[in-house]
Amino acid sequence: MPTTFRDEPTTRAAMEEFRNEPFVDFNDAANEKALQDALKKVKAESGRHYPLIIGSEKIETDEWLISTNPSAPEQIIGKFAKADQSLAEKAMQTAQSAFESWKKVDPIERAKYLFKAAEVMRKRKPELTAWLILEIGKSWAEADGDVAEAIDFCEYYAREMVRLSNPAPLTAVPHEKNKLSYIPLGVGLVIPPWNFPLAILVGMTTASIVAGNTVIVKPSSETPGIAYQFAMVLEEVGLPAGVFNLLPGPGATVGDYLVAHPKTRFIAFTGSKEVGLRVNELAAKCQPGQIWIKRVIAEMGGKDSIVVDADADVGAAAEGIVAAAFGFQGQKCSACSRAIVHKDVYDKVLEKVVEATKKLSIGTPQLRANNLGPVASRQAYDGILKYIEIGKTEGRLMTGGSPHETVERGFFIEPTIIADVDPQARISQEEIFGPVLAFFRADSWQHALDIANNTEFGLTGAAYTKTRAHLDQAAREFHCGNLYLNRKCTGALVGVHPFGGFNMSGTDSKAGGPDYLLLFTQAKVVSERI
Ligand code: NAD
Repeated sequence: MPTTFRDEPTTRAAMEEFRNEPFVDFNDAANEKALQDALKKVKAESGRHYPLIIGSEKIETDEWLISTNPSAPEQIIGKFAKADQSLAEKAMQTAQSAFESWKKVDPIERAKYLFKAAEVMRKRKPELTAWLILEIGKSWAEADGDVAEAIDFCEYYAREMVRLSNPAPLTAVPHEKNKLSYIPLGVGLVIPPWNFPLAILVGMTTASIVAGNTVIVKPSSETPGIAYQFAMVLEEVGLPAGVFNLLPGPGATVGDYLVAHPKTRFIAFTGSKEVGLRVNELAAKCQPGQIWIKRVIAEMGGKDSIVVDADADVGAAAEGIVAAAFGFQGQKCSACSRAIVHKDVYDKVLEKVVEATKKLSIGTPQLRANNLGPVASRQAYDGILKYIEIGKTEGRLMTGGSPHETVERGFFIEPTIIADVDPQARISQEEIFGPVLAFFRADSWQHALDIANNTEFGLTGAAYTKTRAHLDQAAREFHCGNLYLNRKCTGALVGVHPFGGFNMSGTDSKAGGPDYLLLFTQAKVVSERI
């Protein structure tokens, strides 16, 4: 019962009402110095070898995944043991065996590991932030936001498990005692993307384990380093061996093998539409020896729009568009890649957005002053530049349109704006996942909303207008999982904005919300004659 939990002094404080982790103020000299020191420390450790983790074993392999700094691709951040199918099988057997004991651990005890993990991450904040800056090219503020969100997930899901462990209210009938409880599913496969390589990995992992499941985590090949750092957090809090297994490896071999494995009970995936659909298809096929339908939680891509009305606050809208389009180089599933503006204010909004975009400073995110860092990898860089060339034929190039050259030959791309784009154009319909923004002219508010709804995605969106009826219309008709009115479409907070999208953006699992943990459990009802 939660009462015993509440009585314990160490966890009583943790059970106070959930509050989002505050962002670090880097204007405070002590905070700035802490991050500078952490950057030096993580850089000094670059090039080290890191094992994979199965149960209590740390395993080296003959082949390695090389993680590099996208600002200076010749700089090796670390070499990570790379799993093959036999190690994937070993991880599965270890996770299965750990499940037999972990599922019996009291939910409150499980929640305590998450509270402790949040504490450890708070203590290690500068170092975790430095890893995100160096391994994936986040600016200071974006990296800090990623760490804060990871802490929030631990704090939030721990409380959610405590809530779910209370008996659910059922209708009373005479001569019977009825009880509904949420029990775990089994072994889960957790597949996060590289763009929130700490927060999303931590969110999907902690939701799984606090609900009583054991997991195999296959991090993105771009970001095995930050995944290893989280494994060290879990080691410090004393999570029993085998509950969390870390298995860097290629998606096409290790990923496919574990998705198809008959003992995989569920898959928590966040990534692109293409890979998500493949995971869903493979998971749907029942394998010999499989005795369940696998549950797939798949959060996928976005093509998110901000619509601006004739009477909107043009300055606020332009500011929101720039922040949402170019924060973390446009590599957020929630990023604004389409600005749909009423014809009466189109030129004004476009001019303001272009002007503000030209003022953004591009360069290594190790320097706090830089707003825009590199894109994630050579593959991302080549893909985005190809879309920019397509965009130049589909509209009017207003700014950007080229790589941004640096001596370190990092993957920098100028923030790019293309105006007068047709709503059916490729850069309007396909997810680019980079610093590329398309502008569309709308004849009316209805026309703007129709354009906003014309893709296969439905993740985030924003609407700027001063007309109450237009806000209400947007709330009803703008078909996306997370809609923001008179504010930008990025920056969802755990507990405040449960997050997940419609249509090809995924299963709308609403991470960081009150329904999320249910996806990692099954409800059992016991009815006793009395
Ligand atoms: P991705 O689909 O390329 O990779 C995601 C993960 O899947 C990685 O860990 C990758 O190694 C793994 N993978 C690749 N092939 C696999 C296979 N055959 N089997 C199993 N796993 C496999 O995506 P990405 O480039 O890492 O991330 C960017 C994408 O993620 C964008 O489309 C973005 O919109 C999306 N995203 C969505 C959300 C959301 O909440 N909806 C959040 C963040 C990112």
